[in-house]
Amino acid sequence: MKNRNILVTGGAGYIGSHTVILLIKSGYNIIIFDNFSNSSRESVKRVEKLVDTSITVVEGDIRKREDLQKVFISYKIDSVIHFAGLKAVGESVEKPLKYYDNNVYGTINLCQVMAEHDCKSIIFSSSATVYGDPKTTPIDESFSTSATNPYGKSKLFIEEILRDVYFSDTSWKIVLLRYFNPIGAHASGTIGEDPTGIPNNLMPFISQTAIGKRKYLSIFGNDYDTHDGTGVRDYIHVVDLAKGHVKALDKIHTFNKIMTINLGTGEGYSVLDVVKAFEKVTGKKVPYKIEARRAGDIATCYADPSYAKKVLDWKSEKTLEEMCADTWYWQSQNPNGYQSH
Ligand code: NAD
Ligand code: UDP
Repeated sequence: MKNRNILVTGGAGYIGSHTVILLIKSGYNIIIFDNFSNSSRESVKRVEKLVDTSITVVEGDIRKREDLQKVFISYKIDSVIHFAGLKAVGESVEKPLKYYDNNVYGTINLCQVMAEHDCKSIIFSSSATVYGDPKTTPIDESFSTSATNPYGKSKLFIEEILRDVYFSDTSWKIVLLRYFNPIGAHASGTIGEDPTGIPNNLMPFISQTAIGKRKYLSIFGNDYDTHDGTGVRDYIHVVDLAKGHVKALDKIHTFNKIMTINLGTGEGYSVLDVVKAFEKVTGKKVPYKIEARRAGDIATCYADPSYAKKVLDWKSEKTLEEMCADTWYWQSQNPNGYQSH
């Protein structure tokens, strides 16, 4: 059942742009819906180049019914992949209402318009952050959930809302994908992560340090209960993550319950492991200083990815070295992200 119209909210963003490439290559018809609040038209142009075809892009906001109505009236949408959302944890603490409005209200609005047009199939971008501070690792989908900041809570609330939607009408097909830590970039070096301002996440901070935009990496704590004292995470290549979405979309109409699925590698690497791998692969030095722990950080987080293997026939393939190499290729080709050209 390829050749279906798929609405990709947030499709111009980091994970969305990588996913759109694979969806088009798999034969899906894509409509990107994005307000470009955290992305640029340039990323879409580059995706078009990579797939050698033009892509329908609708500029709009998921919080605006009329923007969504236009799309659902113009196109018979089969399924939605819902990436659109704000994702900066620190900002969410400062501006919780902005996050609840954009992420939670935006998703409610989206689902209402979908239902009006009898489109009841959605894949949602959730996050491993919903596991809070897990008691043990690896983390499987049955673990309890909690969140300590408005960003994480917005993901938890949306998951709960989508569960209620499903229980009220089991003809909905809903997949909640809980991503671990996406890093890396497309192997072409033409699309990648392009954070505005000072990066919050580890990998873009490392690559900006290696290229000389930042003096040194601050490592947030080396006194955690991990093999070298620095925080351990499950870094997953963004292209592997994108493949997980294609698998989920391929199968979504066959699922007879709401699905909650981890997308991770099952491997945990510390901050120092990542720094060393990056230095080895790129030959670049990443100066760092050990600093205080960052509020809200946990020691260790990595997935049990076996459910994804079972129900999606998906598993990650790329190594940490490949993630570092692809990040560096993107960074070195585009020192200022999409504004380099
Ligand atoms: P991103 O910021 O690069 O992409 C999100 C896109 O959504 C952007 O293009 C932005 O312009 C758009 N957008 C935001 N609000 C919108 C609105 N109201 N209407 C229309 N478009 C809007 O982020 P990403 O890293 O690609 O993340 C995609 C999704 O995955 C997000 O929901 C994020 O919370 C989730 N997620 C990301 C990570 C990560 O580490 N990158 C981890 C777990 C979950
Ligand atoms: N980290 C760090 N310095 C940075 C950014 C992150 O030491 O500048 C650490 C952070 O404490 C955590 C890991 O790197 O242990 C991953 O952080 P990131 O923000 O990328 O992901 P998350 O904490 O959301 O899993």
